[in-house]
Amino acid sequence: MVCDKSRGVGGRVASRRIEGAPFDHGAQFVTRRSAEFSKIVEDLLIEEVVIPWFGEAGKERYAGLPSMNQIAKTLAEGLDVKRGMRIENVRFCGDYWEVSSEAELVRSRSLLMTCPAPQALDLLKSEATEPSSCVLNTLSKIEYDKGIALMALLKEPFPVSDSGFLQYDDPEPIATVADTLKKRGLESPGVIIQSGPDFAERHFDSNPDTIIECLLDAYPRSKELKIVSTSLQKWRYAKRREHGISDSYSSDPSIMLWHAGDGYVAPKVEGAYLSGLRVAESVAAELELKLK
Ligand SMILES: Cc1cc2nc3c(=O)[nH]c(=O)nc-3n(C[C@H](O)[C@H](O)[C@H](O)COP(=O)(O)OP(=O)(O)OC[C@H]3O[C@@H](n4cnc5c(N)ncnc54)[C@H](O)[C@@H]3O)c2cc1C
Repeated sequence: MVCDKSRGVGGRVASRRIEGAPFDHGAQFVTRRSAEFSKIVEDLLIEEVVIPWFGEAGKERYAGLPSMNQIAKTLAEGLDVKRGMRIENVRFCGDYWEVSSEAELVRSRSLLMTCPAPQALDLLKSEATEPSSCVLNTLSKIEYDKGIALMALLKEPFPVSDSGFLQYDDPEPIATVADTLKKRGLESPGVIIQSGPDFAERHFDSNPDTIIECLLDAYPRSKELKIVSTSLQKWRYAKRREHGISDSYSSDPSIMLWHAGDGYVAPKVEGAYLSGLRVAESVAAELELKLK
């Protein structure tokens, strides 16, 4: 069983509608550098859940259809997902785990956590039976930058760039700008302006109107935008910082505990997927051993 605090699935592969138009306020695209994730992208292309967006051969970026979140919804089909369950406590009880939210408690032989490492660390630190210091050590080395995404629905199309995506070499105060119309050619005109980490750190607790004003001020072409309405998304754990960890996940098989996600392999959707694959192999092998 998968427990997720959100109403939907996908985490930072997230989308919302503004006056009916889909906006991706987390990941803008997926890549396919590895053979394993390439296979997933191939299947998603056949199912018309992704379309090629931009990028030269070998570095193509794919957008979800009708929104990025559809990728997560499709991959989660058939899974038993308990939505809206915010885990507040995890407890190892000798030969099983107890995981609880305010209202519910779930017991399981093994526990795989895939929330960002600082959140996993908080939950495990409050656990009386401490996992090995090796897991805690690894988790404490995985850090994230904050991020803020401004979505603006527009009255008229606004060409951001030939591809519809602009990435600044210097990511401050703005890291990227995406043109929602150019991305899929389906929705109403709009832009998504993503802040850099320093901007997000400075403004994270500012009033939303101030953040919107500052982000628009920082975008040199903002005067050209005919804005109908705006929406803001703040990410406390947006992008994982570089680190020297080469493992694909961390684990303590003696207490059947694993942690995976974009903290390992690469700080992007593809990296999180590959970490998930490797950890699944490890969990399956340990469960098989236990059954013998
Ligand atoms: C603004 C932004 C832009 C990005 N752009 C790109 C991009 O263009 N391309 C790309 O490849 N990557 C991009 N990324 C990064 C990408 O989104 C992540 O690397 C990837 O989604 C990480 O997946 P994950 O499963 O490891 O973590 P997450 O997606 O964060 O999933 C963690 C899940 O844990 C759940 N959770 C957390 N705490 C609890 C709790 N206590 N109880 C229950 N559930 C909990 C959350 O609800 C969430 O569903 C971007 C990220 C951001 C924020």
